[in-house]
Amino acid sequence: MKSYRVATIAGDGIGPEVTAATLKVLTEALGASRITFEDMPGGAGHYSRTGEVLPDDTFAACRDMDAILHGAAGLPGVNYPDGTEVGNDLHLRLRFRLDLYANMRPIRLWPGVRSPLRDFDGGGIDYVVVRENTEGLYASRGAGVLLRGEMATDTLVVTRKGTERVARFAFDLAQRRKGAPRDGRARVTVCDKANILRSYAFFRAVCDEVHGDYPGVEIDYAYADAITVHMVKRPDFYDVIVAENMFGDIISDLGAATVGGMGISPSAEIGDSHALFQGAHGSAPDIAGQDAASPLATILSGAMMLHWLADRHEDADLRQAGDRVEAAVGRVLAKGDHVPRDLGGQTGCNAMAEAICRALSEEDKTK
Ligand code: ATP
Repeated sequence: MKSYRVATIAGDGIGPEVTAATLKVLTEALGASRITFEDMPGGAGHYSRTGEVLPDDTFAACRDMDAILHGAAGLPGVNYPDGTEVGNDLHLRLRFRLDLYANMRPIRLWPGVRSPLRDFDGGGIDYVVVRENTEGLYASRGAGVLLRGEMATDTLVVTRKGTERVARFAFDLAQRRKGAPRDGRARVTVCDKANILRSYAFFRAVCDEVHGDYPGVEIDYAYADAITVHMVKRPDFYDVIVAENMFGDIISDLGAATVGGMGISPSAEIGDSHALFQGAHGSAPDIAGQDAASPLATILSGAMMLHWLADRHEDADLRQAGDRVEAAVGRVLAKGDHVPRDLGGQTGCNAMAEAICRALSEEDKTK
C-alpha cells in the first residue's frame, strides 16, 4: 500500500495552530503508516530571520512530495521595499513555479452553521468558485510599472491556454458534482466583465468554446458586479463559478462570508502535477497564539487533499478517509456542543480538532 508524504509549511500567525490541529485529524482518519507530514520552514517570520520566504529546500520538498499542506503566511509590517506583503509571496511563488492554475474554493453551508442569509439552512448553499490562479490581473505581480512617482500600471493578461485549462477544470468539476441545490442542474457560471474589456470578452468566448465538449453541463454568465448581488440573493442557483484571478479572489471571500466566514472556508490550488491545500483565510495575527482560531478551514482543506490524492492514485482508502473527515466535521457542527469562536461558540482550536478526532473514532467503534 502506498504511503504519502506531505510537505507541510505551518507558516505564521495562526498557521502553526491550525496546521497542528489538521495533522491530528488527518492522522486519526488515515493512520500514521499511510501519511507522513514533513515540516518545512517558510513565511514572513522565516523571511525576517533569514531573508528567504521560500527556502530552496522547502521548494524542493513541495515539488517532490505528494502534496503540500500550508497553514498561513504573513505578518503585519513584514513587507518588501515596494510595499507588497512578504507572506503572500510564499504561496504566489509556489503557485507560479508549480503552475497551480485552478484555485478551488468550495462555498458550502454546513448543517448547524447559521448563515447571515436568513433564508438558507445547511445544504442550501453548495457551490465551488474556480478561480484562475496564474494570470488575469495578478499576472504582473512584481512587474507592474511605477513611473516617476506619478503613475502606476499593472497589466491584465488573459491567454487562450490559461483560460481553456481552467474552464475545462470547471466543467469537469460540474460533471462530477450533484448540481445546484436549487434545481439539481450541473451548471458553470462564467464570471467576467465581458461588457467592458476585450480581455474579459475573450475569457468568455474561450469558456464558450470549451463548453462545446460538455453538452450535459449548462453554461451561464454573470458580470462580476452583478454576481455579488446574486450570490447574496440566490446562492442556491450556483453549482460551479469560473472567474478571472482577481474577480475569483474577491467573490470567493464574499461567498465564504455567506456560509460562516473565513474560518470554515477551505481552498485548494491545483495544477496538472502538484497541489497546495490551505484554509482560505490569512494568518490572522490578531488571534494568533491564543488557541482561538478555528481549524475547520484547514481541516476541510486537508480533506480536499485526501480526495485529490485519491483521484490521482486511484486510492479508495484515501477517498474514504476524506469523506470520513468531512462527515465528522458535519456531525460535530450539527450536534452543536463544539462551536469555534468565529461561529459564535467557545471552543478553541485544539479542542475543536479533538472533538473531530473523537467523532472519527466513535464512528470506528460503531462499525
Ligand atoms: P490575507 O490578506 O492573508 O488573506 P487578511 O489579513 O485579509 O489575510 P485574515 O488573516 O484571513 O485576513 O483574517 C481576517 C480576520 O478574520 C482576522 O482578523 C481573524 O479575526 C478572522 N479569522 C481569519 N481566520 C480565522 C480562523 N481560522 N479562525 C477564526 N478567525 C479567523
